Amino acid sequence: MFIKYCKSCLQPSTRPNAVFDKNQICYACNSFVRETNKNIEIDKKFILKKIVKQIEMDGKNSPYNCSIGVSGGKDSTRQSIYVRDHLKLKPILICCSYPPEQISEIGAANIENLNELGFDILYLSPSPITWKKTLKKSFFKYGNLAIASELALYSSLPKISMNLGIKHAFLGENPASTTGETGSIIKNKMYLANKTRNMNTLKGGRPDWLLDKDIKREKIIPYYYPLEKEFLKKNLNIYYLGFFMNQWSRLYNGTFSAAHGLNLREKSPSKWGDLINCNALDENFMSINQMIKYFKFGFGKVTDFVNEEIRHERITRKEAVLIVEKFDYFVPKKNILEFCKYLNITESKFWKHVDKFVNKKLFYKSKGEWKKKFSVGYDS
Ligand SMILES: [Zn+2]
Repeated sequence: MFIKYCKSCLQPSTRPNAVFDKNQICYACNSFVRETNKNIEIDKKFILKKIVKQIEMDGKNSPYNCSIGVSGGKDSTRQSIYVRDHLKLKPILICCSYPPEQISEIGAANIENLNELGFDILYLSPSPITWKKTLKKSFFKYGNLAIASELALYSSLPKISMNLGIKHAFLGENPASTTGETGSIIKNKMYLANKTRNMNTLKGGRPDWLLDKDIKREKIIPYYYPLEKEFLKKNLNIYYLGFFMNQWSRLYNGTFSAAHGLNLREKSPSKWGDLINCNALDENFMSINQMIKYFKFGFGKVTDFVNEEIRHERITRKEAVLIVEKFDYFVPKKNILEFCKYLNITESKFWKHVDKFVNKKLFYKSKGEWKKKFSVGYDS
């Protein structure tokens, strides 16, 4: 069997670190049921109260008592408001920004919006020259253009927090609960994000594979995720806010944040492949990554979205199949052309390289185009 699906949502077995139980229900679905149980809700409130108390105590003499990793998108906006206005904490927002060639206009406007909502933001802007080299290497080595940049994005929060003497930091969603990526979970402490480095794409957080005669170690310091012993030495804890917040979903976060000034994409889903126009607003290259992911594993970003909607009972699995069939692989051609221009490669070189990563058990080529051998939602 090349691909099987969760019986409850459309989680495919091809996702790295995906886990299914004996009834073929995925980790994310089981986790959703567990975490929305009434008794657990009470436990969550208790844990959060304890964390907040500790944060207040540890930071009572500091201008900021916690930090939040932000990109300026729907999740960051909701989290920041929650931490400041609901938990009554004093957060500093930490943003590792994309280089000018990659950040979108909407992304820049949304960071500005967070600033205008009254938050202090600390920016880390890694060298665009090194950024491009590392992105190119990620794309050509792994067929994943985000590996290096994700390392820089994820590392900025613990690194800067440690340097500021902040002991408590927040991230948004736990990938295990929302997508079923179980690489970074800490058993019985689903709210802790201290092992993010173990996520499949972060490869342990040590990007030594980037080093070559053109990429020196001193140039990629921001790409190294702090080691566990550094976390312990600095007494840093990172928490997934998604674990504690009600209604954590792409749709709800987008709606909430739009009401607080978040700028949305104006394109229709058929022109962008984003059903709610508020996913990955900060840049345009990641849609290409999602397309490559689709060719590698047979699913893309729309699958993640509909799975969440199924769990929240806003759509049925049957309806979700139709949506995934129509939109999951979609990427605007304009984005591919922009990406080729950014890396200074031809479109044919781009496709030749992407072809190498296509999973031939799931796809076959017909008249120059990749066609899928599988039907979404059915084991094959
Ligand atoms: Zn599932």
